[in-house]
Amino acid sequence: MALFSRFQSTHQRVIGIDLGTTNSAVAIVQGQDAKILENEEGGRTTPSIVAFDERDPANTKTLVGLPAKRQAVINSQNTFFATKRLIGRQFEDEEVQEDLTNTSYTIIPSENGEAWLSTVNGLKLSPSHISSYILQNMKQVADIHLSEPVNHAVVTVPAYFNDAQRQATKAAGKLAGLEVLRVVNEPTAAALAYGIDKRQKDGVVAVFDLGGGTFDISILDIEDGVFEVRATNGNTHLGGEDFDMLLLNFIIDHFKTQNGIDLSTDKLAVQRIREAAEKCKIELSHVKETEINIPFIKDDKHIKLKLTEDELDAMSLHLINKTIDPVKRCIRDADLKIKDVDEVILVGGMTRMPKVRKTVEELFGKKPNTSVNPDEAVALGAAIQGAILSGQIKNVVLLDVTPLSLGIETYGGIFSPLIPRNAAIPIKKEQVFSTAVDGQTGVEIKVYQGERTLVKDNKLIGHFKLSNIPVSPKGVPQIGVTFEIDADGIINVSASDNTKYSEDSPHYGKSNTVSITVAGENELTEQEVQRLLEESAKNAKRDMELKQHIENATRAEVICSDTDNALIQFDDFMEQEEKSVIVQMVKDLRVKIDDIRERNIIHDPQEIRNDVNELQKVCLAAIQKVAIKQQQLQKKTKKE
Ligand code: AMP
Repeated sequence: MALFSRFQSTHQRVIGIDLGTTNSAVAIVQGQDAKILENEEGGRTTPSIVAFDERDPANTKTLVGLPAKRQAVINSQNTFFATKRLIGRQFEDEEVQEDLTNTSYTIIPSENGEAWLSTVNGLKLSPSHISSYILQNMKQVADIHLSEPVNHAVVTVPAYFNDAQRQATKAAGKLAGLEVLRVVNEPTAAALAYGIDKRQKDGVVAVFDLGGGTFDISILDIEDGVFEVRATNGNTHLGGEDFDMLLLNFIIDHFKTQNGIDLSTDKLAVQRIREAAEKCKIELSHVKETEINIPFIKDDKHIKLKLTEDELDAMSLHLINKTIDPVKRCIRDADLKIKDVDEVILVGGMTRMPKVRKTVEELFGKKPNTSVNPDEAVALGAAIQGAILSGQIKNVVLLDVTPLSLGIETYGGIFSPLIPRNAAIPIKKEQVFSTAVDGQTGVEIKVYQGERTLVKDNKLIGHFKLSNIPVSPKGVPQIGVTFEIDADGIINVSASDNTKYSEDSPHYGKSNTVSITVAGENELTEQEVQRLLEESAKNAKRDMELKQHIENATRAEVICSDTDNALIQFDDFMEQEEKSVIVQMVKDLRVKIDDIRERNIIHDPQEIRNDVNELQKVCLAAIQKVAIKQQQLQKKTKKE
């Protein structure tokens, strides 16, 4: 496969890490089989929790995993969990603002507005920094098992993680002393584990992954060792933590009704309730009824309340239902029908909840496959991808996809996509554009992500300028714009002047290229991705019409500017009266063009076309008269 040859074999041991919102796991491939490495406590997964010691002003004593979880109640403000929900996000993001009230630790804005964390002692940490402690811990587990230090890893991320979140994950790896050779989408990794482990016969596989913080759905084609992701969708802010928060708020409300005391501001109490809420949720996956028991939550007051599975199902139905639309969209994007899916694999701890399983079964019309361990499949798949990269596993190819269309703004505010959504990555695409105005010496390249026809409805994720374009008429310069998405889903855009200049031009043989790696605060949040996709579907017809109107207006503008040029060129010979008529016609037409472009006021396209035809007719007649005058003048001068 051509794609495979791009990747250099490292011949190094590469570990696979599932850096989960709630739990993380590390795996390696031995022989041809992937296996999970147990941590110091004998656990196959490690809680993604990092704690600092309040009595250690230098913040040098960190606890990671189970030891951190154990002391969370007594050190809640210094114990950081589920911080993956914050990775690559802005403090002002709606989701972050929601988390502010629900976490026992402090979330702060960083200097550039990102969501960061603060310990009690005032140490400021990025979510990547917290992730790096977890990755370091995973690395140590591997070092001990392998009796040698490992330096290379494949780390998984939710398929719907944007560029900033992927970059932040790679940065976390670096901080942990690991070179992250590849960032792989979690459901894709799970499918790899499933496909290879089960020696799965070829077919279409849906991976339904509901973990602690995120939901992902991917549809893959498995054929002869080629794992091709056909489409992916999801929600990076939907997972077990939301179910826990729901129960947490339910318990707080219950206590308030009974005792008139609001516990929501008591960080210690909130932490205790949160743990009880998760425990209750997990128990209800196995029993029909359970009791939440938290003694002395406030002075001599206790929490004691019963909850049934049906009550939890009813309470959380809106969360479970949030998975349905992404699944449907994903199937549609993969160009398939539900019945075409041969196998549904469940991944992520939350898929143990019976109501979630039932919803999946109803949705796909078949019982999901539960043969893979939902907590381990992702790490195993990451290890397999690591072994593919190191050359340890051969004849397996992984083709992943990009979740949203990418393109640039072209004249009139039109979005010109270069890479369509769900295109296999890595991918490189080039398209040639030109200038829209005579004498234009620079072009602003604005990179957008989204599915709408007009850029104003999509998300600007980066912009840069290509300057020093030699003066020439509009349409002459050849500006090549290249989009490249690497195997980690990270985007690079470049623009270069590809015009063929003659040998005597000062620009001959000179390169003029500018490029950017799209990163940072401008990236899409998951909510925005959802919104863009929904709006795109809703407005497709209207957008297409608007695009036609804008293209019509752009054609009219070209005629207007050609007329302007003709007026300047033939100024001396044109009748004043005719000139005024033409100037007025151009002026009237431009009002309509601006209406369409800037004021969203739509004029009948036929009316614009009629105006353009009329203008061209009048202008041509005037130019013909000018030509006659010029001929007469020439004859006269010849005679003289
Ligand atoms: P993961 O990110 O895949 O480790 O998933 C962790 C999430 O799954 C957490 O929110 C857990 O509370 C949840 N979880 C784990 N086991 C169960 C279970 N038996 N029933 C319901 N939720 C569970």
